[in-house]
Amino acid sequence: MIITTEGIVLRQRKIANNRRMIVLFTKQYGKLSAGTSVNEKSRSKAALALRPFTYAEYDIFKGRETYSINSAQVNKSFFSIGEDIDRFMNASAFIEYLDKVLEEGVPAPKLFDLSLEFLQSVSECRTGMDTLLYAFIVKTFRTLGVAPELSCCVNCGKAPGNFGKGFPPFSVSSGGIICPECAEEEKRAADSLIYKPDFDIISVFRYFDSKPIKTFEKIDLKLGVRSEVREILSEYTSRYLGVDVLRPTRGLEV
Ligand SMILES: [Zn+2]
Repeated sequence: MIITTEGIVLRQRKIANNRRMIVLFTKQYGKLSAGTSVNEKSRSKAALALRPFTYAEYDIFKGRETYSINSAQVNKSFFSIGEDIDRFMNASAFIEYLDKVLEEGVPAPKLFDLSLEFLQSVSECRTGMDTLLYAFIVKTFRTLGVAPELSCCVNCGKAPGNFGKGFPPFSVSSGGIICPECAEEEKRAADSLIYKPDFDIISVFRYFDSKPIKTFEKIDLKLGVRSEVREILSEYTSRYLGVDVLRPTRGLEV
């Protein structure tokens, strides 16, 4: 059976007989691995569609257990990503994140559309590309079923208006904002991880979640806010999704 689908290349590796395995994020079928004998170095249309940061249309032969790419045609190549180190680092982190959170064969069309928006924005954005990446990651939480509790204390349900002075603490270990009393209690647990940001994390997360990705092409968080948001997201994604593309060793810190 031949299937036709839009897709984004996540990664590829060499396999036997001079063939390669391409891992695609497809709109209709989710993540899938497909073999191909198309030579990447050739200038054919199909070869161009197998390059990183490319959005293409693929004709794929579906066998009993395997997929094989028959032909492909580029819809859009985000080639400018490769021309700038910041763009490249952030887009690579985005690809690594997608590859880890997507399950093989499970369609995620909303996430696919969001991914295309991200690629478009990161290829045009001139500053603050890490903010774009944070916005993308926060936007995926709902779809992935790991959205943090932001409307009330994650442990006792108290409204943030009754938390007392200062900005609400955020508990990575419980998965949401936490009132000071519950925070004291939770601190005693061995795996507790609570942040006390000196900014309103509820507004930051809600802003990321509610505005289109494009909004963040021109927005840069303040330095202190940015590094704390980064650390919280890094801990949060590694705890709930088993992926951390924001760890400092990537060298993305400004
Ligand atoms: Zn509480």
